[in-house]
Amino acid sequence: VKDTIDCRFLSFDGTERVSGSLARPDRYRQLFDVLSRPRPAIPRGAGLSYCCASAGEDVVSVSSRRFDRVLGLDRDAGTVVVEPGVTVGALHDLAVRNGWYPPILPGHPEITVGGCVAFDVHGKSGRTFRSCVLALTLFHPSFGEIECSPEVDAELFELTVGGCGLTGFVTSVTLQLVPVAGSSLVRRRSPVADLSTTLEDLLKYDRDHDFAYSWNDLSARGNSFGRGIVYLESFADETLRASRRTPGRGAGEPAGRLPVPLLGRRIAPIANRIYYEAERRRGRSRLDLGRGSFPILGKEGYFRALGRRGFREYQMLVPIPRFPTVIERLQAAIVDTASRPCLGSLKILDAEARLLRFSGRGVAVAVDVPAGPRSRELFARLDAIALEVGARVNLSKDSRVGQRVVAELFPEYGAFRSGVESIDSGRGFDSALRRRVLG
Ligand SMILES: Cc1cc2nc3c(=O)[nH]c(=O)nc-3n(C[C@H](O)[C@H](O)[C@H](O)COP(=O)(O)OP(=O)(O)OC[C@H]3O[C@@H](n4cnc5c(N)ncnc54)[C@H](O)[C@@H]3O)c2cc1C
Repeated sequence: VKDTIDCRFLSFDGTERVSGSLARPDRYRQLFDVLSRPRPAIPRGAGLSYCCASAGEDVVSVSSRRFDRVLGLDRDAGTVVVEPGVTVGALHDLAVRNGWYPPILPGHPEITVGGCVAFDVHGKSGRTFRSCVLALTLFHPSFGEIECSPEVDAELFELTVGGCGLTGFVTSVTLQLVPVAGSSLVRRRSPVADLSTTLEDLLKYDRDHDFAYSWNDLSARGNSFGRGIVYLESFADETLRASRRTPGRGAGEPAGRLPVPLLGRRIAPIANRIYYEAERRRGRSRLDLGRGSFPILGKEGYFRALGRRGFREYQMLVPIPRFPTVIERLQAAIVDTASRPCLGSLKILDAEARLLRFSGRGVAVAVDVPAGPRSRELFARLDAIALEVGARVNLSKDSRVGQRVVAELFPEYGAFRSGVESIDSGRGFDSALRRRVLG
């Protein structure tokens, strides 16, 4: 019986297409069987990476979606053991119901825990997922299923966190939750004139709030470049009626996007100005946790408005002393390439820089533009800026950055590559991302 189906995969940013196949096992026996066949495989979560990290040409994408059980919860210690297909939305709800909170949550509730491990994702809190992972179990056909943690088989553990699914299929994850500090969130909005004031505010207020991040208008010209809103969020005790999370609305799958981009270069500056004015006037709001924990939930229309041709995001983690140089170079690159970014955003990260993870101490700068030749030109300039200032790029958000740039940007590139090659010497795990970045 054929248990895989032929599939065309499109990256979430809508720019990368590959033909492979999809397996959706629901028993461990089937899972191990499909992973042990000669054809290369790659684990797949919700497919919400912006690049084809969980798909590749002639690769079998092995879905974790049917492995979505909670295997254990210690209500006193706040530890939970989950299968990799549990979404962060489900994890959040389970934790909150029991008085706990997942300390690192990426922007959308549909993302899976397996995907969070494999890209060591960050959230609004400044830390990365690695900091809450106590242990993992991993299956690779060459060694079977084994448990690893910072204490046991530490090298395998470190390579798997941020390992882009290339060390094997994670079958369970043990996480440390933190006590939930309130039943709702208060979101304050503080207007800022430019990118350097944004960073100053983020550094100043970061310690007094549970979460801090910004939205910035990078399409504005002249002195208005980078004006924006700093969002400062704190837990509060007021219980609000939970807003309903609509199942299956989707984070904006490429197939559901408009045929022509609404947020093209003419409209983006107008839309950004309207957004800035509207947010500036809103001041404070209260949100129930189910909604407030995920900043992109409810804003999926943004991805649809970027159209079927897709978009590109560049996210770089800049050492703080080099940020003034980045502002100058970024503005010049945007003007020279006549680009009109539809989104800019900053947040502070403070996590140990390791391997190919998007981690370290610095300011994470994100820039979105509609896909097209101009975006290629702009992003080549951004690569040059990242190289100049020693920034790390977020591989989960980029379907374009090449091997040469990655090898130069990440001091542990060689260690990651040889680590993956020693675990997966037969190249049983493969993806478009692996081919582009590791060769
Ligand atoms: C709307 C939106 C908001 C986002 N917000 C953030 C954010 O705030 N912070 C951030 O850091 N990222 C963010 N991301 C990126 C996203 O968190 C990562 O790309 C994440 O890895 C996606 O997980 P996924 O479940 O969709 O997995 P996929 O995209 O399917 O896979 C991602 C990687 O995980 C691997 N993988 C999946 N399951 C397993 C498993 N069981 N075992 C081993 N490897 C596995 C895959 O092989 C692949 O390499 C966002 C993405 C979107 C679309």
